[in-house]
Amino acid sequence: MINQERILAEFLELVQIDSETKEEAAIAEVLKDKLASLGFSVEEDDVASKTEHSANNLFANLEGTAKGPAILFSCHMDTVVPGKGVKPSIKDGYVVTDGTTILGADDKAGIAAIFEAIRTLKEKNLPHPSIQVVLTVGEESGLVGSRHMDASKLKAEMGFILDSTGKVGEIVKAGAGQYRIVTKIHGKAAHAGVNPEDGISAITVASKAISRMPLGRIDEDTTANIGRFEGGRAYNIVTDYVEIWSEARSMVNEKLEAQVKKMTSAFEEVASELGATCENDVKFMYSGYKFDESTPVLQKAIAAVKRVDREPKLTSSGGGSDGNVFNGHGIPSVNFGIGYEEIHTKNERMPLEELYKASELVLAVIAECVE
Ligand SMILES: [Zn+2]
Repeated sequence: MINQERILAEFLELVQIDSETKEEAAIAEVLKDKLASLGFSVEEDDVASKTEHSANNLFANLEGTAKGPAILFSCHMDTVVPGKGVKPSIKDGYVVTDGTTILGADDKAGIAAIFEAIRTLKEKNLPHPSIQVVLTVGEESGLVGSRHMDASKLKAEMGFILDSTGKVGEIVKAGAGQYRIVTKIHGKAAHAGVNPEDGISAITVASKAISRMPLGRIDEDTTANIGRFEGGRAYNIVTDYVEIWSEARSMVNEKLEAQVKKMTSAFEEVASELGATCENDVKFMYSGYKFDESTPVLQKAIAAVKRVDREPKLTSSGGGSDGNVFNGHGIPSVNFGIGYEEIHTKNERMPLEELYKASELVLAVIAECVE
């Protein structure tokens, strides 16, 4: 139903606009104009003033012409490096680079898919519920854009992110949330040979605490890791200070909270038992989510995939996406595979068939949401 020539032209146009993460200003202007010409009223937040990014997140709203849940589609506008001066060409059914840069199909294929779907929707006068398109900055720099977004601008009942590997048909129905912890343990220095009994070894405190906590694969939803351990100065000094970096992830937020508590309290308990002190600096990164097939957003996603003649393939992700953030703000959201390949490398490529299919999928989601 979509216009293949038109989406390909727009995709090629978008990938040739430099938008390495933190340098999104130029593409944001283009995207704002395009959204406005598609009939959206476009707002932005103030994330550029709060982060190192040069543009704001865009929130574009299109009023519904039919009943149905208000839906959100989202992609990110930034790319990884090296992403400047992309020279795309078409080879054997793929859009490829000249080998000196990434392509930026991650995530511009998603953006092109949404835009072409909306253009088709308008052209063919198809009914649709209220649609919000959210285009974020700073996804590649650790979800910085979405994590600092002005969530009061979000207006949907359910969300569909177009930013996952896997062919069209793949649906990420669970994603791990994450906490990061920096633990600082202060012991007491002493001469290791002369009067070690006067010292309190921060290394001993930390290692006893670590041995008490569950780590690695905790259960099917949850993982935890000590990623860095630094401290100590010399053979002959009882170590008075160590710093430990750790993380916990879980698809289930209650399990995530419980795991973080086990880790921080192990440090606190052992520190107190051995007369040391400890500070845990716990940083929430983003929420986890896990849907079963009774969840409306997943039902719609599955039905939409079938509507475009693909087999739904449900997957989980241990990494984060903007979808985690939307879920954390109470908008149940799934992430769709859109077929891009070898992302974050100079071999990144986009199968034309998947580009077209991804756009058809957006139309199918909209059709599924009309009541
Ligand atoms: Zn991406």
